[in-house]
Amino acid sequence: MKTAVLSGTVPGHGHIRGGRETGKRYPRVRIQLLQMLAAVMLFAAVMTGPARAVTGPLAERTGFFFDTVITVSLYDTGDESILDKCFEKMAYYESIFSRTREGSDIWNIDHAGGKPVAVSEDTIDLIRRALEWCEISDGALDISIAPVVDLWDFHEDSQKEIPAQEALAEAVSHVDYTGIRIEGDEVTLEDPQAGIDLGAIAKGYISDRVRDIVIENGCSSALINLGGNVLAVGTKPDGKDFNIGIRRPFGESAYDLIQVVGASDLSVITSGTYERYFEKDGVIYHHILDPDTGYPVENGLTSVSILSEDATDGDALSTTCFVLGLEKGMELIESLDGIEAMMIDEDGKIYSSSGWTGRDYPG
Ligand code: ADP
Ligand code: MG
Repeated sequence: MKTAVLSGTVPGHGHIRGGRETGKRYPRVRIQLLQMLAAVMLFAAVMTGPARAVTGPLAERTGFFFDTVITVSLYDTGDESILDKCFEKMAYYESIFSRTREGSDIWNIDHAGGKPVAVSEDTIDLIRRALEWCEISDGALDISIAPVVDLWDFHEDSQKEIPAQEALAEAVSHVDYTGIRIEGDEVTLEDPQAGIDLGAIAKGYISDRVRDIVIENGCSSALINLGGNVLAVGTKPDGKDFNIGIRRPFGESAYDLIQVVGASDLSVITSGTYERYFEKDGVIYHHILDPDTGYPVENGLTSVSILSEDATDGDALSTTCFVLGLEKGMELIESLDGIEAMMIDEDGKIYSSSGWTGRDYPG
């Protein structure tokens, strides 16, 4: 039997955004983390059976960053010092990319009142990468969406409050990625009331940088799992693909899979309405937002999964294609080399791009 790893975010986890990185949430989060660990262990046991000793990771560590459960698993080395380096780097990224941590690069930009802010190279790099997709998607992805994100709270224990229409209209008037200027190591927001939120892309970028560390340190078989978005480094030690599961939207549990993708040197990233949402008066309000209206995107889609070598692209595209919708999203994917997508609509109908390699689960 093969090992499968989960893609898709476990409810209640995910997201770098929105005031959720504060100490006060950690007790609840720790309980969730333990529950998740127990579930992952059970799932791994079920999936791998007696072969586990041969196919399981030689070193593995789980932690909590970016409001998300993170697991790095090394399959061809038991070198814990590689995991130390990965986790140090993730702590560093959290300290610079967090929108809510006072003194982070992004916090500084968002609170500079329109003045230029000197930031780290990584922040410049990530903002540049994000802006490329903002442009390609003509603003379907817009990382200046922070004023809108601020008005919503999609966490499980939220008050389920729908922001006032006037407040959303005011917030969207400050959303315009073309007002983000980069000069040297400085970032300026032309509109002092604008704000950057990298929640749509940061986890993919961080996965890529963790992969770099893993490879630089001589490991060539690993899985990097950030809240269910999985990057496979190399193949399993036996040369076969890793198997990455994609969750069924609104399934029974996080382990209710709809498809499995064979992956080597491949990132599998999913954005879905079911990942973070609240329901009020029969309407689902979820965390992927329309930059024009400020309301959750309503286009009949529930889930968009992206296969790409580069997880930064995959993360940007999962959100971008969700906002673009089925037709325009697929058109974009078909125009890009080496990137594939699967989209699922509210009726559970599956749409796949021409080179999509996922297979039904259970097959
Ligand atoms: P996940 O964090 O579950 O992987 P996504 O990658 O789809 O989900 O990112 C969703 C996050 O991106 C939201 O929580 C918010 O911070 C941000 N976001 C939501 N809508 C947009 C948008 N249209 N453009 C840019 N960022 C967005
Ligand atoms: Mg994304």
